[in-house]
Amino acid sequence: MNHGFLIDMDGVIYRGSELIPGAEKFISKLRREDIPFLFLTNNSQRTRRDVATKLMRMGINVEEEHVFTCAMATARFLARQKPCGTAYVIGEGGLTQALHTNGYSIVDHDPDYVVVGEGRSFNFEMIETAVRMILNGAKLVATNMDPNCPTQHGLRPGCGAIVAMLETATGQKAFSVGKPSPIMMRHARKELGLATSEVTMIGDTMETDILGGVEMGYNTVLVLSGGTCRDDLVNFAYQPGRVVDSIADLCDALELVAGSAA
Ligand SMILES: [Mg+2]
Repeated sequence: MNHGFLIDMDGVIYRGSELIPGAEKFISKLRREDIPFLFLTNNSQRTRRDVATKLMRMGINVEEEHVFTCAMATARFLARQKPCGTAYVIGEGGLTQALHTNGYSIVDHDPDYVVVGEGRSFNFEMIETAVRMILNGAKLVATNMDPNCPTQHGLRPGCGAIVAMLETATGQKAFSVGKPSPIMMRHARKELGLATSEVTMIGDTMETDILGGVEMGYNTVLVLSGGTCRDDLVNFAYQPGRVVDSIADLCDALELVAGSAA
């Protein structure tokens, strides 16, 4: 079977710090059968190694090569657009590390780009600095536009909420690279080394995972273990190829899931 999987993490593999039943079994099966896969996350906070370690500690046996973050997609995109450029960053380690790895310098004066990711450490002074940079010609780039993110304690504001503040203040629209952007979705497929018809995207969010997958022409699977319930589906003009309660339902149906792509 020449097929691979792009797998969202939050709401698919775990919720907060809790592993979703069946996730470990599913990933073990992929590894055992040598089926290529990549975890695809719109969280730019952690580096791929940090993400792999988090998964390992939860009992999922993966390497950092199995992780692809929107921070990596953003940094690679910027490096192609403008090699060796400069960025002012509102975000955390995952984003600054990805930019450095891709030849970018992080500056606090006259940057090519203002790049925004999620994090808990930004303050109003940074927003003010970013607003002035954007008004002076720096381009506003978002790692993702997720409005919020579920945690054990309820929702927290996402990267999109921070970006909205900058957009409102400057009148400039951000360019976003994370899911559902084809930039991240296509990069991920290239990492797997597969053709469009050979890829299945598994996710819990219609607006990112499923929309991105549908637009790319990938096979899509919506899991109901995260932020979406079955009743929500009537609100969308596009539908996933398959809907399951959780990743546990896919363990015994790999061929079926992959097969429906053609
Ligand atoms: Mg998710």
